[in-house]
Amino acid sequence: MSRSAVPATRPSILLVEDDASIREYLELGFGYEGYAVLHAASGSEALRLFERERPGVVVLDVGLPGLDGFAVLRAIRGRSAAPVLMLTARDAVADRIQGLHLGADDYLVKPFHFGELAARVEAILRRTQPDSGRTLAYADLSLDTQLREAQRAGRQLDLTPRALDLLGALLRHPERAMSKAVLLDSVWGPDFLGDDNIVEVYVRQLRRVLGDPELIQTVRGAGYALRLRS
Ligand code: CA
Repeated sequence: MSRSAVPATRPSILLVEDDASIREYLELGFGYEGYAVLHAASGSEALRLFERERPGVVVLDVGLPGLDGFAVLRAIRGRSAAPVLMLTARDAVADRIQGLHLGADDYLVKPFHFGELAARVEAILRRTQPDSGRTLAYADLSLDTQLREAQRAGRQLDLTPRALDLLGALLRHPERAMSKAVLLDSVWGPDFLGDDNIVEVYVRQLRRVLGDPELIQTVRGAGYALRLRS
């Protein structure tokens, strides 16, 4: 890899898995990689820990007793844009789609090698880090975060600073549905007191400037996603 943007101090990672042997295996691996590891064996424990510790990244098993991984993901997404990677025992396309629809950043099917999981977590962290000076890209769209210039298919996009920030927030989580609350928090900040309808106003502006084919999809009940319609 030409340039690693993962900081020397690794963020904390929350592992949610009811299978003790897998949990211990992952805990050991991530600990060795330098992450501070928190773990939970159930969905409700995961949500309690998430609230209290605000981990930098979540590795979330779909199959959990009680609240399953999808329910946990839904609850996390109601309040946070923290990166989430989902694990499942089933190679079900429907699970993958549901996970991405609800706002997972990535997906890994069991069984897997720890190395693959670690590489994916690193990739998510690189992609979602809010540092400047990187070029974010999706499909024919790119955003130079240092120059604050966006292009689509080589055409310069004329965007207000806020619209550019909103585009950046979507580009950091390509294909993932992001709720209005999360977009409001990441673009306008937690202290913004206005209505979240402002997100719709800026999405309309972005759509107008981006042109066709439509890249910002409305995901019913979940928000918006930067995604090519398949
Ligand atoms: Ca499980």
